[in-house]
Amino acid sequence: MKAYDILLAHQVKPSMQRIAIMEYLMDHKTHPSAEDVYAALSDSMPTLSKTTVYNTLRLFAEHGAALMLTIDDKNVNFDADTSQHAHFLCKKCGHIYDFHTPVGMNKMKELRSEGHMVEEAHTYYKGICKECKNRQND
Ligand SMILES: [Zn+2]
Ligand SMILES: [Zn+2]
Repeated sequence: MKAYDILLAHQVKPSMQRIAIMEYLMDHKTHPSAEDVYAALSDSMPTLSKTTVYNTLRLFAEHGAALMLTIDDKNVNFDADTSQHAHFLCKKCGHIYDFHTPVGMNKMKELRSEGHMVEEAHTYYKGICKECKNRQND
């Protein structure tokens, strides 16, 4: 799906800026922060402000067009992949890895069967990634 269609599908009015931000998020599966997105787009979009980027990303998250991750206590990160997946943050390099295992699905089913409306679930793991671990051993 194109950024434009994803925004429409999630009831987000697709302005030029919003499409550019969504496209960036879809092309960069690195879970960028608002700062990262701003740094990447501000050259080509001089009217863009950091606040706009942040508010736009939050809006995407509120509408379910993106995930908002609070795994890193210094940064809020965003993810265009809204499928159920877990995240692993390396405390050394800051890289956030995706894990497409159905984590927490049973719990969600259980909560739903109790009559709760579960809209999202986040599973976070933290530690040192293998790349950083290998570097330490060198
Ligand atoms: Zn690392
Ligand atoms: Zn992810």
